[in-house]
Amino acid sequence: MNPFDNAMEQLKRAAKVADIKEYEVLRTPKRTISITMPFETDRGEMKYLKGYRVQYNDARGPFKGGIRFHPKVDLDEVKALAFWMAMKNAVVDVPFGGGKGGVEVDPKGLSQRELENLSRAYIKEIAHFIGPDVDVPAPDVYTNPQIMAWMLDEYEKVVGHKAPAVITGKPLEVGGSPGRSYSTAQGGFFVLETFYSKKGTVAVQGFGNAGSHIARLLHEAGHRVIAVSDSRGAVYDQKGLDIPRLMEHKRKTGKVSGFATGIGDVLTLDVDVLVLAALENQVTKDNAHKIKARVILELANGPTTPEADRILKIPVIPDILANAGGVTVSYFEWVQNRSGEQWSEERVIDELKQRMASAAEEVKKTAENYKCDLRTAAFIVGMGRVLAAERLRGNL
Ligand code: GLU
Repeated sequence: MNPFDNAMEQLKRAAKVADIKEYEVLRTPKRTISITMPFETDRGEMKYLKGYRVQYNDARGPFKGGIRFHPKVDLDEVKALAFWMAMKNAVVDVPFGGGKGGVEVDPKGLSQRELENLSRAYIKEIAHFIGPDVDVPAPDVYTNPQIMAWMLDEYEKVVGHKAPAVITGKPLEVGGSPGRSYSTAQGGFFVLETFYSKKGTVAVQGFGNAGSHIARLLHEAGHRVIAVSDSRGAVYDQKGLDIPRLMEHKRKTGKVSGFATGIGDVLTLDVDVLVLAALENQVTKDNAHKIKARVILELANGPTTPEADRILKIPVIPDILANAGGVTVSYFEWVQNRSGEQWSEERVIDELKQRMASAAEEVKKTAENYKCDLRTAAFIVGMGRVLAAERLRGNL
């Protein structure tokens, strides 16, 4: 289950349904940067970590996408994630191309000092390939606003001047945007309203930035979040979990386990909404037929394989639409950094709502026109916009 092969299969399917032949330009990244970072541990030991930045497509604007720290990061994963960013940014129509970065490392085993050294070492290696008009990174799995602040600081040392728009997802104090911390979940929440407006039961796989905030937002809106998992375990309560208290428990103990009755698998529960907010390749041909949910909301990138898509008979609100709220508020942050403006949280959430609702409508309309599933429709919208830009630039 190579995520890049899966991504290319999704692309091909959409191209076939919409009869688009000129998609060759989308089958390979424009530039791939592979680096080896010498990195000294607290005990004085030298480690050589592998890192990547894939700049997939920039026809619509600077490359844009997060940086992931995870022990399973590899080039094919980062390529897939960068491609999905190009599609996602086109679906929500922000003026960015697609890119992604990653370091093969287990950040949970690092001290704060080691994490800082690693973040600085990574950005130093790619500093000459990024910039506010070139490539704009952001957080992703196991990276956060503090890491963005270190990276910004290191970048500004390399170039010798302030450049807050080089990276988004920063803390407010160094040019971040209000609302960015929960924007991926907030965007998913708005999109869900277009496709599933009933209040019901919810299971959430993943309790990181996206998963914890969507659980909170759905809980606040009157849904019953009955199960939540993270990388170490899962908890369950048929009456509904008290999400603010669960978030507090996770903050204190680093895991959801211990908060309520433990269970094995959240994916196959009988719920209305299943939220996938962990990693790629979670719903596969092996478990797709066991899914009992009425609708799937993909806040993770690539959580459902193409084989699973063919088995599932319920609407799947695809990643490149459902989780695009994060990069949409990243765009607002970039706009604020470049103009020197500071928006209120209310304005950010208001504009996010409008953009997500209109992207969701566009995908819905496209699915109706082509009589296809929502993922294929989202790819038709995204691919169409990227190819239109390529055509205007004379590349097709
Ligand atoms: N990592 C997030 C994503 O996968 C956000 C990217 C960004 O803000 O650039 O969409």
